[in-house]
Amino acid sequence: ATFSSLSDRLTATFKNLRTKGKLTPADVDGTVREIRRALLDADVALEVVKDFTGKVRERALSDEVNKALNPAQQVVQIVNEELVGILGGQQRRLEFAKKPPTVIMLAGLQGAGKTTLAGKLAKWLKKEGHTPLLVASDLQRPNAVTQLQVVGEQAGVPVFAPEPGNGVGNPVKVAKDGVKEAERKQYDTVIVDTAGRLGIDAELMKQASDIRKAVDPDEVLFVIDAMIGQDAVTTARAFQEGVDFTGVVLTKLDGDARGGAALSVASITGRPIMFASTGEGLDDFEPFHPDRMASRILDLGDILTLIEQAQEAFDEEEAKKVAEKFATDTFTLDDFLKQMQQLRNMGSLKGMLGMLPGARGMREALDNFDEREIVRTEAIIQSMTLAERTTPKLLNGSRRLRIAKGSGTTVTDVNQLVLRFEQAAKMMKTVAKGGTPQVPGMGPI
Ligand code: GDP
Repeated sequence: ATFSSLSDRLTATFKNLRTKGKLTPADVDGTVREIRRALLDADVALEVVKDFTGKVRERALSDEVNKALNPAQQVVQIVNEELVGILGGQQRRLEFAKKPPTVIMLAGLQGAGKTTLAGKLAKWLKKEGHTPLLVASDLQRPNAVTQLQVVGEQAGVPVFAPEPGNGVGNPVKVAKDGVKEAERKQYDTVIVDTAGRLGIDAELMKQASDIRKAVDPDEVLFVIDAMIGQDAVTTARAFQEGVDFTGVVLTKLDGDARGGAALSVASITGRPIMFASTGEGLDDFEPFHPDRMASRILDLGDILTLIEQAQEAFDEEEAKKVAEKFATDTFTLDDFLKQMQQLRNMGSLKGMLGMLPGARGMREALDNFDEREIVRTEAIIQSMTLAERTTPKLLNGSRRLRIAKGSGTTVTDVNQLVLRFEQAAKMMKTVAKGGTPQVPGMGPI
């Protein structure tokens, strides 16, 4: 997937720090150098890399570092926060007009995935309870109108296209008429698909800018292909100057691109990434969460997604109890085991485990994963005394050895389970208290 090689490199860098007792300036420099190389190799724009590594370095050397954390954790914590920052910080949702229809205009190069995105967005909006209308203002590409009609049909959303002889060749007029049509027929959102060229050109910019002036959109979404690499910066800047936009949509995040565009665009333009497109199908689309993306890149596990899925599967009473346990720090290994057993009911156990922190290293194991993982976890926890299950801190070396022997596993297995439990518990604790989850195992900042 898009960030896998960056992710592997960063995780390897952090792993090197794990054996260090203290973070020396030389360690910081070495680590920052590695991060810099990894980002550049992922096609992140040089200026973004410089800024990013500068901040990480400064913070890692400063007094702010949390002395309770080990060096690897300190660095991961800082890198995570800075990564969330360059991805735009908070999640930014679509803003709807007080007086409908809300007009959303799409802009971007040809092939970026605008028309496909128009269909995805329409389908998603419909699911969210809106009544969208698609407007075909891309009159440049011969079959763009037909293509929009096809995705509109798939999404079950009507398409406004120029009638022959009425506005043909005039995308500005089509856009305006489309908005009028929406007002007349009371659609609450209008998605205006516009033309793109293969490269940036003045005429394209003027047309997009004219459409913007004519329909005064509430949102202008700049659609950019994540595979575009280093050109992302020039393209984004040109669109910002030529049309300007309120948000960014990244497409083709399912490809093997190195993902640098994704990491550069928000920070270069100061505009948030609002959606991500991850495939050719209309459902391969999701609102973008900077914190979740950062956790994915750093292999911290997508705890939030995990929680959302868990919430759907657990009954509410049970969930409340568990949340209370998290918040009051009384969540035990026994509870953990119960949770895992409940996860079994959730269908894709493999997917769930994949979202737990540190799961990346177990990817191969996950591919052959079967219920044995739970059986092993069960065996390990059952080999613990009640006191150990409640207070994992008691688990010194000799106890761990005893547990490994008792459960037919290894000390490493026991260590991993305890570590994963602690990370999950700490992270969930923050979430349960209503805070933003921080790096697992590190507590609040
Ligand atoms: P437009 O010229 O900007 O309107 O781009 P299109 O919507 O026609 O998309 C160009 C090509 O990219 C089409 O073949 C789409 O199926 C494909 N495409 C669009 N979005 C994605 C995506 O997220 N992932 C992948 N793999 N392909 C996509």
